Amino acid sequence: MEHYNIDQKIQEFMADIEARNPNEPEFLQAVKEVAVTVIPFIESRKEYSGMKLLERMAEPERTIIFRVPWVDDKGQIHVNRGYRIQMNSAIGPYKGGIRFHPTVNLSVLKFLAFEQTFKNSLTTLPMGGGKGGSDFNPQGRSDMEVMRFCQAFMSEMCKHIGPETDVPAGDIGVGAREIGYLFGQYKKIRNEFTGVMTGKGLAYGGSLIRPEATGYGVVYFAEQMLKTIDEDFNGKTVAVSGFGNVAWGVIKKVHELGGKVVTISGPDGYIYDEAGITGEKIDFLLELRGSGNNRAEDYVKKYPEAVFHAGKRPWEVKCDVAIPAATQNELDLDDARNLVANGVICVTEAANMPSTLEAISHFVEHKVLFSPGKASNAGGVATSGLEMTQNSIRLNWTSEEVDARLKEIMIGIHKTCRDYGKEENGYVNYVKGANIAGFVKVAEAMLAQGIV
Ligand code: GLU
Repeated sequence: MEHYNIDQKIQEFMADIEARNPNEPEFLQAVKEVAVTVIPFIESRKEYSGMKLLERMAEPERTIIFRVPWVDDKGQIHVNRGYRIQMNSAIGPYKGGIRFHPTVNLSVLKFLAFEQTFKNSLTTLPMGGGKGGSDFNPQGRSDMEVMRFCQAFMSEMCKHIGPETDVPAGDIGVGAREIGYLFGQYKKIRNEFTGVMTGKGLAYGGSLIRPEATGYGVVYFAEQMLKTIDEDFNGKTVAVSGFGNVAWGVIKKVHELGGKVVTISGPDGYIYDEAGITGEKIDFLLELRGSGNNRAEDYVKKYPEAVFHAGKRPWEVKCDVAIPAATQNELDLDDARNLVANGVICVTEAANMPSTLEAISHFVEHKVLFSPGKASNAGGVATSGLEMTQNSIRLNWTSEEVDARLKEIMIGIHKTCRDYGKEENGYVNYVKGANIAGFVKVAEAMLAQGIV
């Protein structure tokens, strides 16, 4: 009876969300993952039940959609669409990245902003949730075109953000170069030098370790997961997808801890490097990324001993640890089946929502250690939080200091997920742990602040 009621509550909740957000599959997926784990928890707590907390969290406080017109090098005019989703400000200013990619739309950014709210809460730092971006494709564009686009984008976004209001950062397609142009335009229009963006260059307020932070944090988290079964990275074979900033940081740190990363991937397929991606090959990833081709195949041109598998994903290789670090829904049920059949012991998400709901269920059913991105990739935004602190106190911390804080935060998130996610049979359901723990802090703040 109890179960019937809870299931019905989840169904009713989702039916309402689906009706209000048609054609937003990614957003619905992210909300559903949270709903199935958090609604039973809400219903078990008198102070939360009936307060419409999750309903409120699933509705952005504000959605800003704007035109971004810009002129290319040939004098042609282009029109892109810009967005900023200000999802939740209960525990701090909106905080989250900007994504420039042709797949960007309202659904994708709402899922990212929704996840960001829980992720930022897990870091324990005072940051609300937000996300933004554009369907602009930076691939193949010159520096000056990217600069003009960033200026056009910021000309509108600067009206809605600020160091105490909303602090954007990078995400797919937005790295150090774009952050520089965005920051420059904000400063020019607002006539203020403030910590309004994170991921800034070191010369103008950036933090050491921020470029490495997401990847390092993922590996610190995975290290903790492995520790629960008395394992570590030493001698482990690791499959990684993507070859961007996050994958780069992951590979560097796995290598440092004695693991061997054998794959990276791009939209064109994956590469398998049996000898492991080590030494100068890790630095080459930065070149590959900077080339703007977005092709993993180029790795094989430089290192012919590696093998390129066109149109395939790395989840078919035998590995001990899998770290999806590319993008949403890049690991489906078939991939999960392959990984489990090949004996994977730990899947640590580095991208945002890379696994489908069916893939997650498969891992959980097979008692594989599995962590959702909102927990394991929180080191990136956590270090953004550390950048904000350094900007506020107008000091720069050393690499060692930032790295130590990052590690401490990741260990803390792992512990919190474990505390909330431990099941009766001893298995740690990190999805449940992350969702409930992320929810609690935001919920407490919302309850205290009234219906606003
Ligand atoms: N885009 C990153 C994320 O998904 C970083 C956000 C930030 O630093 O604000 O968490």
